[in-house]
Amino acid sequence: MSTCKSCGAEILWSVVARSGRRIPLDVAEVQPAPRVTAYNAQTGKCRTLTAEDMRYVADWATHGVTFHRAHWATCPQADRWRVTPEAEPA
Ligand SMILES: [Zn+2]
Repeated sequence: MSTCKSCGAEILWSVVARSGRRIPLDVAEVQPAPRVTAYNAQTGKCRTLTAEDMRYVADWATHGVTFHRAHWATCPQADRWRVTPEAEPA
């Protein structure tokens, strides 16, 4: 477990499957929805959910995938993040 250097919140570091970029996720789980991040703790990888993915999320959840917000979406110090949110095509 890591903590955000800006606000001190606990965060998960994950690797975007498509780009290899490391992004911080909120530890708290949320309901899956488009633009929420699906995280696979077994691989450490994640992807941003699309509307198309919504038909698969229940199945993924049974395989241990959890759903989180990108920390820069909730960090009170978000303007300090130098990374750009992943804009994956649908
Ligand atoms: Zn923060």
